[in-house]
Amino acid sequence: MTNPGFETLCIHAGAAPDQSTGARATPIYQTTSYVFDDAEHAATLFNLQAFGNIYSRLGNPTCNVLEEKIAALEGGTAALSVASGHAAQLLIFHTLMQPGDEFVAATQLYGGSINQFSHGFKKFGWNVRWADSTDAESVKAQITDKTKLVWIESLANPGGVVSDIAGIAKVCRDAGVVLAVDNTMASPYLCRPIEHGANIVMHSATKFLGGHGNSIAGLLVDGGNFDWFAHADKYPTLTKPSDSYHGLTFAETFGNFGFAIAARALGLRDLGPALSPFNAFLVLTGMETLPLRMARHCENAQKVAEWLDAHPKVEWVNYAGLPGNDSHERAKKYCPKGAGAVFTFGVKGGYEAGKKLIDSVEMFSHVANIGDTRSLIIHPASTTHRQLEASALEKAGVKPETVRLSIGIETIDDIISDLDQALAQV
Ligand SMILES: *Cc1c(COP(=O)(O)O)cnc(C)c1O
Repeated sequence: MTNPGFETLCIHAGAAPDQSTGARATPIYQTTSYVFDDAEHAATLFNLQAFGNIYSRLGNPTCNVLEEKIAALEGGTAALSVASGHAAQLLIFHTLMQPGDEFVAATQLYGGSINQFSHGFKKFGWNVRWADSTDAESVKAQITDKTKLVWIESLANPGGVVSDIAGIAKVCRDAGVVLAVDNTMASPYLCRPIEHGANIVMHSATKFLGGHGNSIAGLLVDGGNFDWFAHADKYPTLTKPSDSYHGLTFAETFGNFGFAIAARALGLRDLGPALSPFNAFLVLTGMETLPLRMARHCENAQKVAEWLDAHPKVEWVNYAGLPGNDSHERAKKYCPKGAGAVFTFGVKGGYEAGKKLIDSVEMFSHVANIGDTRSLIIHPASTTHRQLEASALEKAGVKPETVRLSIGIETIDDIISDLDQALAQV
């Protein structure tokens, strides 16, 4: 088929019938290891001279289907699946950074990423500088000669801010620095960052890709569009011979998918956050219906945001789908099919009113997750963003009264009626 559509790719990309059994659904290859043909075959696999299965920490056939599918959906050259979104972030950084290097990250990020970047990564000697992802000049101002990558979210969690992906991609190209985009909140249905100049895409597949709130998983996608040798001294893991593979140079041997291979052969091999094939199976099943779910998620979220915006007990609503929102124009450019399903609003009455609302909902689930079929609610200031200082909270777009919603795909009248009865109790 030439140029299959997005919906077709969600179902078929990477997923041929099983060659030995004919199984149509992708089987769960629940095995740790794979029998080699002979000693010579084993040696070529270990040397990366041939592709094949060795041991499920390094790769697994069920996980490989997931990797091919996300690479196709994002328009990348190759991908790697790992145990969580945070593990994907770790491997991206491990492949690009050396101790003492710097990176620039958006202040508008998932709270867990702000923690990982400010504390966890500091122990590796990877130093963060913060910038505003709606303003490419602010990113440019933080780039130094030690900067190895810029990290933004296409649609930022929790504030629903839409980043200036193309503007920041241009700044990165001019500076010879990699742009990595966390595309978790948008999913490739709403936004494909590589088309706007991103070099690497990352997903917490835990959220909309899996979509059913039943498994933790992470993905990284190689855009195949960064010229590593034009900046050879910056990225030695890719451009210098690797001691642990008999002098193989990843960007040379594997060309435009060298980043994905290095992340697997060095990062996943040595750090070890492998994805279970069972979780890969659940994410694959979820991804088959991604377009249907995302369309309904966005339609419902738009209606809820409009309804809240007109409610007398609501102070403000921050949803990029609303005209007048700071991100509205960028949402039309980068997410033309909808502004996603996650957004924030403030109830009149501050912190206490926000808490009361959360204690009063009936159908909404009070959880830390997003991107589930179910409608979800949380109070970021007392939970996901609790570890952040007041100034970081403000920069992440979180106020004391902020309530975050992840709108599910239930009947819209039921979603609104639950919020209505809860607001009545505030
Ligand atoms: C949840 C999330 C992560 C972390 O992913 P895990 O699968 O929980 O490790 C990263 N970025 C964003 C935007 C997220 O929502």
